Amino acid sequence: MDLPVDEWKSYVLQKWSLLPMSTQVTISTAETVRDIFLHSSSLLQPEDEMFLKRLSRGYLVGKDPNAPLFYREEGNKKFQEKDYMGATVLYSKGVSHSRPHTEDTSLCYANRSAALFHLGQHETCLKDIVRAQMHGYPERLQPKMMLRKAECLVLLGRLQEASQTISDLESNFTAKPTLAASQFQILQRTLCRLKMKVQEKENLTETISAALTKAFADMDLREENEQISSASSSVSLCTDPLKGRYLIATKGILPGELLVKEDAFVSVLNPGEMPPLHHGLESKWDTRVTNGDFYCHRCLKHTLAPVPCDGCSYAKYCSQECMQQAWDLYHSIECSLGGLLLTLGVFCHIALRSTLLARFEDAGKVIRNLCGEISNKDTSLPESKNLVQTLSCDLGGEREKNGKTVENPIPGCDINGKYESNYYAVFNLLPHTENHSPEHKFLCALSVSALCRQLEAASSQALTTGPTSSKLKAAVAPALGPELTLWGVAMLRHMLQLQCNAQAITTIQQTGSKEDIITDCRQVRLATGLFPVVSLLNHSCSPNTSVSFVGTVATIRASQQIRKGQEILHCYGPHESRMGVAERQRKLRSQYFFDCTCPACQHEKHRATAGPRWEAFCCHSCRALMQGDDVLSCGNTSCTESVSRDHLVSRLRDLQQQVGMARKLLRNGKLEQAIQLLLGCQQDAESFLSAEHSVVGEIEDDLAQAYAALGDWQKSATYLQKSLQVVKVRHGPSSVEMGHELFKLAQIFFNGFAVPEALNTIRKAEKVLLVHYGPWNDEIQELQKMKSCLLDLPPVPVGPSV
Ligand SMILES: [Zn+2]
Ligand SMILES: [Zn+2]
Ligand SMILES: [Zn+2]
Ligand SMILES: [Zn+2]
Repeated sequence: MDLPVDEWKSYVLQKWSLLPMSTQVTISTAETVRDIFLHSSSLLQPEDEMFLKRLSRGYLVGKDPNAPLFYREEGNKKFQEKDYMGATVLYSKGVSHSRPHTEDTSLCYANRSAALFHLGQHETCLKDIVRAQMHGYPERLQPKMMLRKAECLVLLGRLQEASQTISDLESNFTAKPTLAASQFQILQRTLCRLKMKVQEKENLTETISAALTKAFADMDLREENEQISSASSSVSLCTDPLKGRYLIATKGILPGELLVKEDAFVSVLNPGEMPPLHHGLESKWDTRVTNGDFYCHRCLKHTLAPVPCDGCSYAKYCSQECMQQAWDLYHSIECSLGGLLLTLGVFCHIALRSTLLARFEDAGKVIRNLCGEISNKDTSLPESKNLVQTLSCDLGGEREKNGKTVENPIPGCDINGKYESNYYAVFNLLPHTENHSPEHKFLCALSVSALCRQLEAASSQALTTGPTSSKLKAAVAPALGPELTLWGVAMLRHMLQLQCNAQAITTIQQTGSKEDIITDCRQVRLATGLFPVVSLLNHSCSPNTSVSFVGTVATIRASQQIRKGQEILHCYGPHESRMGVAERQRKLRSQYFFDCTCPACQHEKHRATAGPRWEAFCCHSCRALMQGDDVLSCGNTSCTESVSRDHLVSRLRDLQQQVGMARKLLRNGKLEQAIQLLLGCQQDAESFLSAEHSVVGEIEDDLAQAYAALGDWQKSATYLQKSLQVVKVRHGPSSVEMGHELFKLAQIFFNGFAVPEALNTIRKAEKVLLVHYGPWNDEIQELQKMKSCLLDLPPVPVGPSV
């Protein structure tokens, strides 16, 4: 997903292996990104471009005029089945393939508004009604949609507008009596009902919207850092030859304190693991659902009613405004390149978007910073020229300030020593040119070269075609030209930087349906982005901070107490609770080019255990942990049990299969059968897995789900508490995983009306989740609702004393 698709990767590797040795050596030993780019791009042949074009055509990214009808009919089927969510997605796909201002577009929007209405999304439903009308919704279908509009307005408490809509409707019918008598009757009855609802509602005044508006209020940094933008004043930027740049605490920091809040300089939505469809007869259009169907391609906001780009079917946005902004910033150039960008992968896409965004920076400032041209205050240079200067400048450590040379020891900072989240800082992230393999550098360089050729072709096409594409022309023409090589060099630099500096933007998605009593959630990767300030943090496998996201904004909070002078550390992925030390070391060395010496790694290296406890086997007869490699023997010296690893691994595989079957039963509502199977699994697990084995925890968790579905709260809580123990051992008592598990337990106690237990668990869950997410988090809001609900309960009546 991050790198190009496998077909292109192996094609380029093949090409590399056939290069003469001398050429390979030239590229391998090239010292600058510029040299790597120039040598590689001269090797890109027309047949290579043809091959890439063929791959790109596998993606459905343009507008297909036959698709809207297909998707609408598929959507209608789901609608009939009352699968309104499924219908919504299919109507959205229909919209993305429709041309603006056509009946197709208006019908898809109108149908989607109906599905949204049934999903209780009244605000969004109204927006879609407006969109349907904007795109020319047919007169004959108007009454039905107007009724829906009135109904929404009533439900939202917007009564004046509702009354207006109703009276408009009424006068419309009397003016145009085109409806059949029976239809007219139904309409009149509905209108009557609506009028009554308006009257009812008018008595109840206030509506519930104020609560949501302050969601972001608690997300601000208490005091902004003067040296580093987007960071709190509790941290400070340092540098040393071994660690590079890093942040330390300038005062004592308490758990939960917000340390960094940074909007991504650039981010690209992950398209999801979705191989291109091979054009067969039945699979001409894609009905599969991905992140791209639910999240805005610019701001990453979740939306059930995306608005597609007018020019392509793959870029979708939360609103018209986001669409316009994306167009102005980068999409005018990316729009026609969808297939190619999907083929070349997210890193290449981010590299392109970063350079496109660079055009909009305060270019004068960037130049002054880079070249010391403080006297030249010409900020009105054409954009592309600024980029040229930015990129061609020598990035030395010496800068001119007020006529004399000053030393600027921290790369990425401006002449005043300030570090900002901008293109200059992005440009200064390390590309680690010397660490990447020659093949990798060649793959990146050739991919970027191919992209440059396409950009060049697109811009010359835009210059020669008629006035219809003048919008495109205006955007592309000044951006490219003789500086294309510089663009290529910049893009290659970004691509190489991304391996170490890309930040996965994640979100918490609830799994299962809304009707489930216990909602479970999992973290999913939504997008990849560059955050220059977050990039300042070094890695630890047991970090003292926790990162979370709202849209494209990253927040880093202290996850434990940090003393003054201590380094602020963040985990790049290999966390001690998710991977054993050997695997972490391997990953960090190959992806980030360093040997981790964090306390967790040093501690674990000295301890000679075979692996983490959540993967450990235990003795069949005495329950002590088993030790060894191929043949495991009991750790208890007085016990003589021994067994081959292969045997245990295959037992584990069988067990996991059984658990999978039980989950299927659970999903299909066959609760008793699921429980029987799970209890068997539990017994089996106890005979060879350690008590803290992750599979043991999963079985307890599933049992808790099953009993909750049966309404047996007590049993459900008992099992969940066991699973909680496993999570605690693995992730720690104040980990975010623990927070989610406590949240589930709170839901169970709440539903079982175990008031003291519920309140106690709510408090614990709140405490943990606050540290990681801050107060605006969905789960915390939910916990608070539960709490106030429980506290408002009438006191239990005291019986007469005997
Ligand atoms: Zn948006
Ligand atoms: Zn587009
Ligand atoms: Zn480590
Ligand atoms: Zn034993």
